[in-house]
Amino acid sequence: MTEQRRIRILDPRLANQIAAGEVVERPASVVKELVENAIDAGSSRIEVELEAGGARLIRVRDDGSGIGEDDLPLALSRHATSKIVSLEELEGVASLGFRGEALASISSVSRLELVSNPAEDPTAGWRVVAEGRNMEPRVSPAPHPRGTSVTVRDLFFNTPARRKFLRTEKTEFGHVEEAFRRQALSRYDIGWTLRHNHKTVHQLRPGEDMASRERRIAALLGKAFLEHALHLDLEASGLRLWGWVGLPTHSRAQADQQYFFVNGRVVRDRLVAHAVRQAYRDVLFHGRHPVFVLYLEVDPSVVDVNVHPTKHEVRFRDGRLVHDFLFSSLHRALGEARAGQPGVGPG
Ligand code: ADP
Ligand code: MG
Repeated sequence: MTEQRRIRILDPRLANQIAAGEVVERPASVVKELVENAIDAGSSRIEVELEAGGARLIRVRDDGSGIGEDDLPLALSRHATSKIVSLEELEGVASLGFRGEALASISSVSRLELVSNPAEDPTAGWRVVAEGRNMEPRVSPAPHPRGTSVTVRDLFFNTPARRKFLRTEKTEFGHVEEAFRRQALSRYDIGWTLRHNHKTVHQLRPGEDMASRERRIAALLGKAFLEHALHLDLEASGLRLWGWVGLPTHSRAQADQQYFFVNGRVVRDRLVAHAVRQAYRDVLFHGRHPVFVLYLEVDPSVVDVNVHPTKHEVRFRDGRLVHDFLFSSLHRALGEARAGQPGVGPG
C-alpha cells in the first residue's frame, strides 16, 4: 500500500523548475526571454554572447534602464514584474514581458547572475544571484555601466532530463541565431551584436531609414531576399501593414523565411498564415512557400497577447477584420506587381 503523503507547498526552486518547463526549452528560449527584457528596458544596444551553442554560457548585455538595488532581489522572484500592476494594464500591455516568470524560471535551471546599474555612474552597480532551494537572492556590489548584463551558465545542469534534450552545438546555435534574427528584425532602432565562441556572427547598426532597414534585412536574410521582394505599406480601419513580401518567383521549398510581427512581437498565427496563403494561392506552385517580413501595427487593446506562456500566439478582437485586411493588402500588392503597375516596386 502506498503511504499517504501530506500536502505541502513546493519549495520555490522546484516550483520555478516546473514553470521553467513551459518557457525554457533550450538556449534559444533563454536568449529570447533575456533579449525581450533588454528591449522592454528601453535599450539602444543589445549584445548577445554564447559559448558552446549556449549550453555553457549565454550572456545578454544591454544599456537600458537597469534595475535599482532595492528591486534587484525581486527581479529573480517568480510573479514579480515591473510591467503591469492590474488586469486593465494587462489588457493594453505594450511590453514584451509581463508574466514575471522568465528570470525566476531560468535561474532555477542554470547558474544565473544578473548585474545591473540604473545610474550613469559607471562605478555603481549590483550583482544578484539566487541560491539554494528557496532561491534566496544574494546581492553584492559590482560595477557595471548603466544597463544590465545577465549571464546564464550551464543551462539545465541540475535538470539532467532536460539537458539530455539539448542537440549539438551547431543545432542549438542555429536556433539561437533564428531567435536573434527575429528580434533584430523587430527593432531597427536598436543596435545588435551576436557573438559565438568569441567570434562575431552579426553586428547590426541601428537605423530606421529605408537604407538601414534594407541593410539589416540583407545581413540577416541574404541579399537575394530583397532582390525578389516588394515593399508595401498600407493602412485601413486603424490597421497598418508594412514590410516586404517575396515575389512568387522567389518562393522556397520550406516556410523558413516568414517573419510576421504584431506590434513588434513575433507572432505565429493561424489566421495570419491563412490570409497569406490565400493571397499567394493563385500565384504559387503547390508545395512552395512565400518569403516575407511583415509588420502589422494595431491598437494594443484589440489584441490579446496573454494566450500562451511563450507569447508566440495572439488573439485579435476582430479576427475577420485583420484577416481580410492582410489578404486584400497582399493580394493587391502581388496583383499590381504582376500587372507591372507603378506604386509597388521592388525593394
Ligand atoms: P517580466 O519580463 O515578465 O516582467 P522577468 O522575469 O523576465 O519578468 O523579469 C522580471 C523583472 O526584472 C522585469 O519586470 C524587470 O523589472 C526586471 N528586468 C529583467 N531584465 C531586465 C533588464 N535587462 N533591464 C531592466 N530590468 C530588467
Ligand atoms: Mg521578461
